[in-house]
Amino acid sequence: MKFVTYKYKNLEQAGVLTPDESSVISAHSLGFKAESMNEWIRELDGSLPDLPKECDTIPLSDVKLEAPIPVPLQDVICLGLNYRDHVEEATKADAVFDVQRGDAVYFAKRLQRAVAPNDKIDGHFDICDSLDYEVELAVVIGKDAKNVKAENAADYIFGYSILNDVSARNLQTRHKQWYFGKSLDDFTPMGPCIVSAGDIGAAPELDIRCYVNGQLRQNSNTRMMIFDIPYIIEELSAGMTLKAGTIIATGTPSGVALGMSPETRVYLKSGDVIRCEIDGIGVLENTVK
Ligand code: MG
Repeated sequence: MKFVTYKYKNLEQAGVLTPDESSVISAHSLGFKAESMNEWIRELDGSLPDLPKECDTIPLSDVKLEAPIPVPLQDVICLGLNYRDHVEEATKADAVFDVQRGDAVYFAKRLQRAVAPNDKIDGHFDICDSLDYEVELAVVIGKDAKNVKAENAADYIFGYSILNDVSARNLQTRHKQWYFGKSLDDFTPMGPCIVSAGDIGAAPELDIRCYVNGQLRQNSNTRMMIFDIPYIIEELSAGMTLKAGTIIATGTPSGVALGMSPETRVYLKSGDVIRCEIDGIGVLENTVK
């Protein structure tokens, strides 16, 4: 089931796509009170809505898709350096990435509002001289998770989406902590939907790609993660409650601009089109302002 947030007649609503993906059905039409995806995830409490044979639908062409969770409850929890090939390229590029591995690297990414599919990204070129892309699988938590063992993690996953962890490399490296360089306004495009976990499972093996202006830059599979999703949920929930609606960005594979050799490295510029794809979820495309 594909969950979406959309605007229809200037009203933002949560809903699902019809099985043929031609239309949307609002949460309200399905008998829920939720006014947003965050509220709907909590109202669903780990279950999925029943889709009746007959109900009100709106053609997909009549709505504007927003990020599936436009305003997360809290900062996005991110993993750094969670694909082996990306660890190698990042370590080569800058000593600040040269960490002793063995444990997961977690950091936070603030956002005011996640950027919708096909909307523009502000490159902040007044303070950023090295704008970069990172396609990532995002996990959305479905029920408050506390002390969850890896073998039970699937029960706590609402679903999966695509997230572009846009990064200002000069700020990320200059300030040592990655928070500022990852958290500028517009640095979190997300979408186009959240695919329910039951359709994918707790250990996704999905092809993941990123193109810039049609050129393939990142090409991997989510099974290449160093720390998988059940591991992450067990480790984090042992100390912090992962509330329903929490978003975890699980890291990016190799192929980012930072990882290119300095002679050929090309960072993003105004007008560049970034197309992030994960099989089974869809396409998230955005243009740099
Ligand atoms: Mg990242």
